[in-house]
Amino acid sequence: MKTFVYIDHFKGEIQPASWEALGLAKSLGSASAIVFGSGVDAVVKAAFEFGAEEVLVADDAALADYRAEVYASTLSALASSLNPNLILFPTTARTRELAAMSAVDLETGVLTDISDLDSSLVATRPIYEGKLLEKTACAGKIVLATIRARAFPKPAQNPGAAGSITKVEVKADALSEVKGYAAAESAVNLGDASVIVSGGRGVSNNPALGLDELATAQKGFELIGELASLLGGAVGASRAAVDGGYITYAHQVGQTGKVVSPDLYIACGISGAIQHYVGMRNAKLVVAINKDADAPIFKQARYGALGDLFAIVPALTAALKKKLGK
Ligand SMILES: Cc1cc2nc3c(=O)[nH]c(=O)nc-3n(C[C@H](O)[C@H](O)[C@H](O)COP(=O)(O)OP(=O)(O)OC[C@H]3O[C@@H](n4cnc5c(N)ncnc54)[C@H](O)[C@@H]3O)c2cc1C
Repeated sequence: MKTFVYIDHFKGEIQPASWEALGLAKSLGSASAIVFGSGVDAVVKAAFEFGAEEVLVADDAALADYRAEVYASTLSALASSLNPNLILFPTTARTRELAAMSAVDLETGVLTDISDLDSSLVATRPIYEGKLLEKTACAGKIVLATIRARAFPKPAQNPGAAGSITKVEVKADALSEVKGYAAAESAVNLGDASVIVSGGRGVSNNPALGLDELATAQKGFELIGELASLLGGAVGASRAAVDGGYITYAHQVGQTGKVVSPDLYIACGISGAIQHYVGMRNAKLVVAINKDADAPIFKQARYGALGDLFAIVPALTAALKKKLGK
């Protein structure tokens, strides 16, 4: 099986799921990485270290900014001339567009957001909010697939590893021009987080503080943020916390928020409604902190702490700080 893996990066900042895609490619046969951009030596080096045998590189000023038409025509020309069986991408906003545009050029289809792929290229992907797993295949000669972050193991990095570099011709005809960048409302990346500490409506409930709802919630999320940063994790939230204005939508986990799959999910003051559960049920280990012994979250969690999050979260942070020597 000849597989190409598109290494997605923004100005050299690599999407970690690119390495998970590379690990999947290697498990199926030979793996060549594709690196596009301008001044991408560090990305190429990392691709070898994470297991690519060959890197197909287009390093050109015309690729300094991601522009769909330039990237897609370069990728399509490359795939048409080298004829891989499979091209894998990490699932990101850029690759959704890039894979779709190249699939049109290559007269094939895209298997999106896959969580498994067998050697005959039958993919598994969750549908209906993860209630069903669908088996799906693509009839095209070259199969394109975007992989779900954290669904496949990340290969070990082998510092100093090297391989062959093949230069790729750039198809630079473009209609668009990038005028600049502006930071989005929040750069939170829940999809890649290995630890998520989430807060729900309960973060606004601490009458002893004598503060109003929003100020209490701000205190609650400060405690959650301290625990998350100690564990190198991200802060998540229930919809009730987002709707209450305690935190921005970018943090929402659930049916109408992000679907996450961290190693550890700590739910603080979250009841465990089904619409929240479908967003975090792929977590490997769930810990619940809640005042109500009958809250459904305790049925979804491996470990539960019954009590006030305003007491338990800082106690947990202090105990972990001691344990970790921080
Ligand atoms: C179409 C649709 C889509 C939806 N999408 C989503 C979604 O994407 N994500 C999502 O989360 N929800 C979603 N919801 C809403 C969902 O149904 C629930 O209303 C929501 O998840 C409840 O959030 P919560 O658990 O924070 O609040 P609640 O259900 O009010 O629970 C608060 C919990 O905090 C506990 N608590 C209170 N004070 C404390 C304290 N001091 N210490 C410890 N525990 C405390 C309480 O015991 C309670 O269990 C959706 C609903 C619909 C209809």
